[in-house]
Amino acid sequence: SGTVDAAWARNWITSAAEVLAEHRVELINLDREIGDGDHGENMDRGFQAVLERMGELPADATPGDVLKIVATTLISTVGGAAGPLYGTAFLKAALSAGAAPELDAPALLAALTAARDGIVLRGKAELGDKTMIDAWTPAVDAAAAAVAAGSGASELLDAAAGAAEAGAVATEPLVARKGRASYLGERAVGHRDPGAQSSALLLRAAATAAGA
Ligand code: ADP
Ligand code: MG
Ligand code: MG
Repeated sequence: SGTVDAAWARNWITSAAEVLAEHRVELINLDREIGDGDHGENMDRGFQAVLERMGELPADATPGDVLKIVATTLISTVGGAAGPLYGTAFLKAALSAGAAPELDAPALLAALTAARDGIVLRGKAELGDKTMIDAWTPAVDAAAAAVAAGSGASELLDAAAGAAEAGAVATEPLVARKGRASYLGERAVGHRDPGAQSSALLLRAAATAAGA
């Protein structure tokens, strides 16, 4: 559809928690190859905590209110690199969404861009550093192309998720320049970045929740 609302935001987060629980072992295994093996646990635990706090939202909560609860919960419950990075992403997206009851495609592009810029501000990664940015930046670019083509919200989210999935796969041949994987040099080559993979899962859940 053309816009997304608070029901979409709630469905997205519920579905993200399910998907991250289903992919917990996969993300742990990716992080075991080039990190410390906790990424699946971190994300699953963080989103289960988010689910528990969703009940605190008032009935008239906006998409921005949902995103803000995700941000504060991830910041307070998920340690490591990913907690503050995703926390910042959701916080910046919440600020971008503001108090609007619905987000159209340009508003979603603005929120995705704010999320990506927040991750960059916090972690200083550039495209090609083998981090979650390698999923987020192609997603933002695809969202911008969707807006330029006049697409609605669900089409935009589908395009962003597809680009994030391709971006996660494209981290496999890379040497890492940020995060724990950067200590491995050439030994990180041939392994997919776990944070790029979890970002692709999150964005696919957003698209699915929009009926894409
Ligand atoms: P930790 O490395 O502290 O155990 P996680 O395993 O939860 O944290 O998250 C690791 C992921 O965080 C990496 O796969 C990468 O995508 C992301 N990451 C790490 N450092 C950065 C950074 N500086 N900028 C962007 N993303 C980063
Ligand atoms: Mg880790
Ligand atoms: Mg860790």
